Amino acid sequence: MERTVALIVAAGSGSRAGGTVPKQFVEVAGRPMIAHSWAALRHHPAVDDVVIVIGAGQQSLLATALGEAAGKVQVAIGGATRRKSVASGLAAARDLAATRVLIHDAARPFLPAAVVDRVLDALGVHQGATPVLPVADTLAKGGVTLGDVVPRGDLHRIQTPQGFHLSALMAAHAAWPDDLEATDDAQMVRRVGGSVALVQGDPMLDKLTYPEDFARAEARTALETRTATGFDVHRLEAGEELWLGGVLIPHDKGLSGHSDADVALHALTDALLGTIAAGDIGTHFPPSDPQWKGADSARFLRHAASLIAERGGRIGFVDLTIICESPKIGPHRAAMVQRIADLLALSPDRVSVKATTTERLGFTGRGEGIAAQAVATVQVPTR
Ligand code: MG
Repeated sequence: MERTVALIVAAGSGSRAGGTVPKQFVEVAGRPMIAHSWAALRHHPAVDDVVIVIGAGQQSLLATALGEAAGKVQVAIGGATRRKSVASGLAAARDLAATRVLIHDAARPFLPAAVVDRVLDALGVHQGATPVLPVADTLAKGGVTLGDVVPRGDLHRIQTPQGFHLSALMAAHAAWPDDLEATDDAQMVRRVGGSVALVQGDPMLDKLTYPEDFARAEARTALETRTATGFDVHRLEAGEELWLGGVLIPHDKGLSGHSDADVALHALTDALLGTIAAGDIGTHFPPSDPQWKGADSARFLRHAASLIAERGGRIGFVDLTIICESPKIGPHRAAMVQRIADLLALSPDRVSVKATTTERLGFTGRGEGIAAQAVATVQVPTR
């Protein structure tokens, strides 16, 4: 059984021109650079674990960059050079029982899953594999004046992630002279006689180094707007607490259901899940699962928001309508807006809470239950 661990090498201290924060933590296309490749590798079905190699003292930058997801990440602390940083990550991969490793540069944030597939496929035959692209421009020698053209037919631009059998790469690192710096891991494996396959890379993987690279990346990462709705109903019963919009409201009855039955947060959660076509609340938190009995629905809402964030999306606006005769929602509206804004990390002017009655008609009119409907608008990167 193969076990694949991806290392993201993000230990650099180089900052984007003019900035003070190392570039892997700078935002590009809606989130910090490191968060893009981390999400791509973490969600790849063939990758079992991801280790991020950061520089000493960069833990808080990483925590800020990954937000709530930072708790799930394995971290290794890099060394003075890229080679030493990779070695530190390899030790972590070995501790995770890896048989294969992918070594990826954080400066290449946009990582298509198909490239990972091609690299891993090649490891069926070779000790290593690297994605490459052909050289399109004419290459020539020269100083002040033009020299000879360099034939480019057998030249390649080397990209990452590079893949290796862990044992082959660890042997290459062990054999490498300490006073020599390596360009990349594939050359290290080659130096000890390993065969490294060339597989097709992707222009999306181009390294972001200069301010103009960032600007180009922003321009080609198109965002699309998505809108989705959610709807929910819960029964009102005596002896239950009434949680509505994340706020506990004093009332003679409360909503019953498996969780805290906050019908407003449930409708909102479904609307958010709808924007990324990620199923509904029951898909993620089945009512049959006892762990959600009495659960705080804030957790469901935050989960939906984190899925959108992992997809590279941003919530633009949410609108909620609560349908009931009583209690009166008006006195609690500001508290609900603030609570929802806090849970979604939005400014309160991006959260709307409204209420209506049904003129005493139907189950809401008779006070048998409360209904809620929600609309959410998000922006997500076009795939
Ligand atoms: Mg519900």
